Amino acid sequence: MSSLTRARAYIGLGSNLDEPLAQVRQALVELGKLPLTTLHGASSLYASRPVGPQDQPDFVNAVAAIDTALSPLALLDQLQALEQRHRRRRLRHWGPRTLDLDLLLFDDQRIDRPRLRVPHPHLCDRAFVLVPLAELTLSLRVEGEPLSHWIERLDDQGLQRLVEDGPG
Ligand code: ATP
Ligand code: CA
Ligand code: CA
Repeated sequence: MSSLTRARAYIGLGSNLDEPLAQVRQALVELGKLPLTTLHGASSLYASRPVGPQDQPDFVNAVAAIDTALSPLALLDQLQALEQRHRRRRLRHWGPRTLDLDLLLFDDQRIDRPRLRVPHPHLCDRAFVLVPLAELTLSLRVEGEPLSHWIERLDDQGLQRLVEDGPG
């Protein structure tokens, strides 16, 4: 597969149900096994307070960089199928979930469709997305500004980097 035909995409991962650490670790492996896709890199894992309803467990979050020959919509289909394989149930908006996979960036494309908006609409407001993303790349610009610009504007959102205790 030629690298010329492949895009660099960034995926935000989140889980707060059914062993969230294991859900996210497993999903990172599975992202690298999607068709026409390889895993380029993964951030550390983080703990964060939920967005929206607070009567739910904290989240485990990470960001992955992948290289893919899939189109953006075909990639979204694959991400949603992977959420389903993790038995995600859509019960309420911003409610608890076993796995959430958000397409954050797809090269420097802007996409504005009902099913898919890229860059992800909340990318620049969320510490649990920006901080792990900055681990993977600092050269990237979002809305014309470097990631550091967006990170400096954030309030403390209770984000904590989780120290890995080895495999398992
Ligand atoms: P948020 O988008 O605020 O993080 P959420 O992840 O809880 O909220 P979901 O219920 O997972 O939202 O997704 C709702 C819909 O968002 C999906 O059906 C999907 O079609 C759409 N969507 C639009 N843009 C994106 C994107 N960049 N990545 C993933 N889904 C997207
Ligand atoms: Ca999300
Ligand atoms: Ca989502």
